[in-house]
Amino acid sequence: MNKPWHAENKMPSKATLEQRIQWHREHQLHCACREAPKSLAAARPDLFAPAKYRRTSPSA
Ligand SMILES: [Zn+2]
Repeated sequence: MNKPWHAENKMPSKATLEQRIQWHREHQLHCACREAPKSLAAARPDLFAPAKYRRTSPSA
């Protein structure tokens, strides 16, 4: 867990959906203590798109 990052980046107590999305986007760049909630990833699959969610067509 990236404690310094968390200390510098607290989630607002009344975060909006957009704020939560932004927070988790930054979070996944700096820390991997937990993944973004599925509801956020589902809301913005283009922004999160972890490999396991990404559907790539197999080559032939
Ligand atoms: Zn973290």
